[in-house]
Amino acid sequence: ARLVSAQGASDEERVERAIRPHRLAEYVGQPVVREQMSIAIEAARKRGEALDHVLIFGPPGLGKTTLAHILAAEMGVNLRQTSGPVLEKAGDLAALLTNLEPRDILFVDEIHRLSPVVEEVLYPAMEDYQLDIMIGEGPAARSIRLDLPPFTLVGATTRAGALTSPLRDRFGIVQRLEFYSVEDLSRIVTRSAGILKAPIDAAGAGEIARRARGTPRIANRLLRRVRDFAEVRGDGTISADLAQAALKMLDVDSNGFDLMDRKLLMALIERFDGGPAGIDNLAAAIGEARDTIEDVIEPYLIQQGYLMRTPRGRIAGKLAYQHYGLKPPERTGI
Ligand code: ADP
Repeated sequence: ARLVSAQGASDEERVERAIRPHRLAEYVGQPVVREQMSIAIEAARKRGEALDHVLIFGPPGLGKTTLAHILAAEMGVNLRQTSGPVLEKAGDLAALLTNLEPRDILFVDEIHRLSPVVEEVLYPAMEDYQLDIMIGEGPAARSIRLDLPPFTLVGATTRAGALTSPLRDRFGIVQRLEFYSVEDLSRIVTRSAGILKAPIDAAGAGEIARRARGTPRIANRLLRRVRDFAEVRGDGTISADLAQAALKMLDVDSNGFDLMDRKLLMALIERFDGGPAGIDNLAAAIGEARDTIEDVIEPYLIQQGYLMRTPRGRIAGKLAYQHYGLKPPERTGI
């Protein structure tokens, strides 16, 4: 498994649950999201209504699931969780919706992967809290309409662009999560270390934060690996020196890039002359799925300016050459 992958692995779910913030006040960073959500929550609570439907988008590991759970906790309601690919039939969604209590949250992860039939059922449910379902088959089939309790749909997606517009339009609140600053990640690492009872100093937390690709899940994962190293090779305390030695051993470089980033950027530089290279050609060159490149590897590289996405394909930035000790080509505008 990839150490700096932002996707969660099952063995870490238990630890993740322990260090996941439960209230909005503990949710580090994302000031715009926090402020807008706290106002929406307070207003809905005052009126005794369900919160508006919320769409959360952003790369993996930035806190979409965490935020959904926090919304439920702040509203004082239950959260039911499912995901786009799991809801195969309209009946799967109907079963979930009819079991909700008033103001409950239904959290649908990977909502861009809902099947069209399920999506059709969702429209009237979101808009009018009504469920139209077909029962029976053939000539005996008929449609019945059920009233649903007012509820909140919270959808999460790594790609806002992959949502159909009728679905996107039905969300009253749309929040985009940004990559976290090194300061915010340092706070997250320090907080998690406290919960894990791992002694850490500010410089040690900073070292981990700088290599976490702007992503809390990666920061927490690096912290756990560095803690192991500190306990076995050191005296248990995570200092900057110790974090550096641990991360070097783990093949995470000074930018938090690992072999996969290196493979992608070097393929672009060496095999495609820096680009532009089509995403499918790049995927074939490094033997990765196109989706993995688009959802997991490249968003951070793009945000940091190592990679550019243009209509003609991906282009390696100057920074990518410099990072790997190469001379950038004499190109203008890049
Ligand atoms: P996503 O659903 O976007 O993939 P998660 O919500 O599962 O990401 O977040 C991954 C982990 O990162 C969580 O277990 C949580 O501990 C941590 N995390 C995410 N966002 C924050 C935040 N704003 N403050 C503190 N920790 C966070």
